[in-house]
Amino acid sequence: RPRVFSGIQPTADSFHLGNYLGAVRQWVGMQDEHDAFYCVVDLHAITMGHDPARLRERSLRSAAQLLAAGLDPERCTLFVQSHVAEHTQLAWILGCLTGFGEASRMTQFKDKTQKQGVEGATVGLFTYPVLMAADILLYQTDAVPVGEDQRQHLELSRDLAQRFNSRYGRTFRVPEPFILADTAKIYDLQDPTAKMSKSSSSPTGIIDLLDDPKTSAKRIRSAVTDSGREITFDRVNKPGVSNLLTILSALTERPVPELVDAYAGKGYGDLKRDVADVVVEFVTPYRERTLALLEDPESLDNILARGAERARTVAAETLREVEDRLGFVVAK
Ligand code: ATP
Ligand code: MG
Repeated sequence: RPRVFSGIQPTADSFHLGNYLGAVRQWVGMQDEHDAFYCVVDLHAITMGHDPARLRERSLRSAAQLLAAGLDPERCTLFVQSHVAEHTQLAWILGCLTGFGEASRMTQFKDKTQKQGVEGATVGLFTYPVLMAADILLYQTDAVPVGEDQRQHLELSRDLAQRFNSRYGRTFRVPEPFILADTAKIYDLQDPTAKMSKSSSSPTGIIDLLDDPKTSAKRIRSAVTDSGREITFDRVNKPGVSNLLTILSALTERPVPELVDAYAGKGYGDLKRDVADVVVEFVTPYRERTLALLEDPESLDNILARGAERARTVAAETLREVEDRLGFVVAK
């Protein structure tokens, strides 16, 4: 079975609708046909400053949410990144293959440092795409289900795999991005030209899946819409309405053109009401399942411990081969 790998950062108390539609939903769908490795990437979550107690809490909440979304520890490997030391070990090695200029071209670094400026950023944030490449390459990954914002980092992972293979001999599988065009980028409800983001969306721009469903409904109803009255899908002229149509289409599995036809003659208020309803329908059981899983931390710990063990086996084998290829003296 082809391998998949993907990760999510424990940078917030809740995942948002973009995380689910852009990434996690695909993770769930890929469990059976693939040998799937999914990871709560806590090492990535310390690149911009963090609170230790909250990080621990958020890592467990992330794992619980992944299970609530439908990951099954019997059908996939779910683990916490810091439990598998090989991620940081391979990251160092790949860092020595990455050009400084190449790393400097990553647009997400530019986005994430826009507010505070590059001077205030950590080296960890700068090299985070290299750690991400290590995450992926350790598992000899075929496909990486992510949102559009990760495309450039995926390209770097591919380049690093190919570079290593051509310099030192074929060692890594070269991963392919798995990005679903329709839901690859869910936008901020208040600024529908920016992506919905855990760390940069304003509270009213984001649908947090663990919020009180009533709050989510209210946020949808107060989403920014566009001038005019007609409901059409037009990313340029109607980004707000298009975003709502995308969400409705994804959650109801009705194609956008069919929805547009169905809303002929209706107004933005009708659309928002329907989107709010389907969102509430989705988040209510998701939230209940997550909270129930968090009631039983021991089971959660066990699942993560088993996941880490399985992950370590694969990761250690790749790293051993990498070190051998690089000419490191094998420890006896
Ligand atoms: P942060 O703002 O801390 O980077 P994030 O919201 O971008 O948080 P990540 O943990 O970085 O979340 O990303 C997890 C996954 O969710 C990735 O595959 C990413 O591409 C995807 N994703 C994030 N935001 C969106 C979005 N708005 N639409 C679709 N997919 C998204
Ligand atoms: Mg992100």
